[in-house]
Amino acid sequence: MLIDVHSHYWEYPEHFSDDFKSQAARARGDGVAVDLTVRWEEYHAGAKEAGKTVVFGGKAHLSGLWVPDRVVANYVARHPDKLIGFLSLDPSRPGWQDEMIEGHQDLKLKGIKLLPMYAGFYPNDRRFDYLWEYATKHGLPVLLHTGTTFVAQAVLDCTVPRLIDEVASRFPDVKIVMAHLSHPYEGECVVTIRKHPNVYADCSALHYRPYQLYHSLMLLQEYGVWHKLLFGSDYPFTTVTASLVGMRSLNDMLEGTRLPRLNMEKMEQMFERDTLGILGLGL
Ligand SMILES: [Zn+2]
Repeated sequence: MLIDVHSHYWEYPEHFSDDFKSQAARARGDGVAVDLTVRWEEYHAGAKEAGKTVVFGGKAHLSGLWVPDRVVANYVARHPDKLIGFLSLDPSRPGWQDEMIEGHQDLKLKGIKLLPMYAGFYPNDRRFDYLWEYATKHGLPVLLHTGTTFVAQAVLDCTVPRLIDEVASRFPDVKIVMAHLSHPYEGECVVTIRKHPNVYADCSALHYRPYQLYHSLMLLQEYGVWHKLLFGSDYPFTTVTASLVGMRSLNDMLEGTRLPRLNMEKMEQMFERDTLGILGLGL
């Protein structure tokens, strides 16, 4: 069963600042913006292959994004057989500890989504150890945005995978997913997932930069860590179906060359990976 480990829920325009909305036009070269409210019907129309989907909102005061966990929980409650909700935290803001407990214990959300760069914090900052201690104690997986951004005030220094290397060294039992293979820091991402048994990466929102993704997956292949990659879409930036089509056709662009091919068997195994079991969400 294919699991989409990375999808978003938000309502437009209420969950974004004006600044965020104008900067979001840079998200992709062709100007895909965030100006929509996520709806199940539209997600599902582009995700027929997905058996279950992880969904989260996002909190980053610095960048002007704030999706309350309650609306995510409400969305999940409308499709409980298909959706698994994660809570979001911005630990640079007061009250995040209470939000974490409420999201987990009252709203029954099953994991934690972080946006360290968008919110302007370092995930390895010892002031946030309680987050990692809580995740350890309650078996909550943590999925973090890692990699690039279109938001000017979100500093890249907060997003590099080496920060997660330190977190995983101190909290080795937390299941961690670094989103987007940390593009364009794939090299750091690959060496980090290789050395930590509970640290993974997802391949979401990468297929529309095919040469870069080919290179990233070849890096993964040569280091022997295909098994640490999880499937995700990053809806609504793209869909499950488009991601599968894009990834399955990556080798096509090598036609007429002697460049090494991606191992399609390993890729198909990734699409079928028991992501929920790996993350302790085996429901
Ligand atoms: Zn995302």
